[in-house]
Amino acid sequence: MIGQTQKPIEEVLEYLEGKEKVVLVGCGGCATVFHTGGETEVKEMAKTLTKRGKQVLAAIAPPFGEFTCYLPWSKARLNEYRKEIEESDAILMLTCGDGLQVVRELILEEEFEITKPIYPATNPIGHMGGGPTLFKEKCQQCGECELGKFAGICPLTQCAKGLLNGPCGGSKDGKCEVDPERDCAWIKIYERFKTLGELEKMKKIVGPKDRSKMTRPREIEVAPLETK
Ligand code: SF4
Ligand code: SF4
Repeated sequence: MIGQTQKPIEEVLEYLEGKEKVVLVGCGGCATVFHTGGETEVKEMAKTLTKRGKQVLAAIAPPFGEFTCYLPWSKARLNEYRKEIEESDAILMLTCGDGLQVVRELILEEEFEITKPIYPATNPIGHMGGGPTLFKEKCQQCGECELGKFAGICPLTQCAKGLLNGPCGGSKDGKCEVDPERDCAWIKIYERFKTLGELEKMKKIVGPKDRSKMTRPREIEVAPLETK
């Protein structure tokens, strides 16, 4: 999931300066989980903007499970509000940057042939897992998962130095020398291999990461889902 926080309202209002009629778009995926763009937040934003003198033409809050970054769902949902979008001065996205750019480029510009100013209301901070309250970054999508070599703990993400072949030597009492609040990833990898009776695996040298798989922006093509 994409972890995210709400932008301060003053920043949102700065974006909307001079724009009177606004359409709000939330997301039934990550933005609902992180309370940045679910039904509640879309309604709250509509109220706040109305109080600040804006005219909210539509406050679109897809139901939980309907991701705004997924083009087929988003296109169908926004199509119901095409008139309001056409009449608006700006679109405010209570989604991550994926959602915003899918809507801007693939739906508004390419499908609807509408060009409107579009602004973010959230600050996405990266892919993370966990919940229901605490989420942590576990994987940085390197494009070539090597968790099998690290007892299921990603040193690229969990080790402050991203070391792939054992600890740096600075760990103290199982904590990381860069951030003593955090466990040393390599101590955890060692302990886990030991529990599994596979300590021998730590002796194997892991080759350098193939950074070409991390070149951005990345793309992937898949067969389409059968959707509503
Ligand atoms: S090796 Fe680490 S960063 Fe790469 S895909 Fe696996 S968990 Fe993610
Ligand atoms: S102390 Fe452990 S987690 Fe911290 S940088 Fe060194 S090896 Fe990585």
